[in-house]
Amino acid sequence: MNALRHFRKSFAFFLLFSLLFLNACAAQTGKDAGTAEPQANEPKGKVYYTYFDTVSYVYDYAGDSAERFDDRSAEVSHILQEYHQLFDIYHEYSGVTNLCTLNKAAGGEALEVDPRLIDFLQDAKAMYELTGGEMNVMLGAVLRLWHDCREAAEEDPASASIPAEEELRRAYAHTDIESLEIDAEHNTVRIADPEASIDVGALGKGYATERAAEYLEREGAAGYVLNIGGNIRCIGDRPDGSGWATAIRDPDDSAEGYACRIRIRDTACVTSGVYERYFTVNGRQYHHIIDKDTLFPAEYYTSLTVVTRDSALADTLSTALFCMPLEEGMALAERIGGVEVLWIFPDGTQTSTPGFAGLIEEQTKGGGNT
Ligand code: ADP
Ligand code: MG
Repeated sequence: MNALRHFRKSFAFFLLFSLLFLNACAAQTGKDAGTAEPQANEPKGKVYYTYFDTVSYVYDYAGDSAERFDDRSAEVSHILQEYHQLFDIYHEYSGVTNLCTLNKAAGGEALEVDPRLIDFLQDAKAMYELTGGEMNVMLGAVLRLWHDCREAAEEDPASASIPAEEELRRAYAHTDIESLEIDAEHNTVRIADPEASIDVGALGKGYATERAAEYLEREGAAGYVLNIGGNIRCIGDRPDGSGWATAIRDPDDSAEGYACRIRIRDTACVTSGVYERYFTVNGRQYHHIIDKDTLFPAEYYTSLTVVTRDSALADTLSTALFCMPLEEGMALAERIGGVEVLWIFPDGTQTSTPGFAGLIEEQTKGGGNT
């Protein structure tokens, strides 16, 4: 079943990245993207299947030597592997105190953890404040109920069900962010409430992606693209200064067509959509982003894309803005600054920040109106 989910995600990301890739080929050859022949100056690429239950790509458009690319992609892979282990809430690894260990120890003693986990959890708390609690890594008790129903539905679709409201409300009583106690001086963490648990699905991948991008920037790399399970992070620009084209999927198109294409450089681009992870009960779809106010999947949008330089912020906001009415989300994006957003509504129409509209190079339907 993990494999099934893995396949579904890999397919989506393959599609997304092939657009990025084919576009690059087309730009280089002048041919139609769909028929481009492999060229000698194609970007070098590596793909990894083992991190964050999804597919990760590292691409070099800058023409590094094979040896240098191997070294750099190996280090990116190493960084992703370490964060994957630290952030895993389902498995423990020998010699690593990770989020699974912390969740198991909830209500008990404080545990000493890797300083990287301290930095991350402090950031996660800051993101909670920034988003007015819409993105809450302590929502684990509620998210687990939805997760279990989704897994059961994948096993046996005929008897799929959703969590009972009463059960959700009881779980919600154990999601206080204050229950996450971080002692940065002693590198320890404790979850005070024994019923509470951490879930970093909303920002873990984006955070790890940013750390990998940081490494590449430190190395002086430019002309790289990371695609970590759909979290796109461009490092610098293409050597010819033309940026990279990436497609935003049309959430209403079951054939996985795109709503628009944008051109980006030196930035992150993250989309959250109702089509990513969901299950069906009595003909109704229930997706994986949970609104703390209803404890049900958020209903404002079918897809939301954030473009901002920091991939962790982009990932956080892709989830948090999904749970906020448009006005509020717009105000938050403006207040933070340097954040461009595309909102796609259930009726298929779109709205974007003025800066996002400037990134669009091809609009296939229902254009932005801001
Ligand atoms: P994906 O990486 O699957 O695209 P998103 O960035 O859209 O995911 O985040 C969704 C994930 O975040 C969910 O699978 C769940 O683990 C977690 N999550 C869902 N709702 C919230 C929320 N309101 N606050 C914090 N985490 C959430
Ligand atoms: Mg997110």
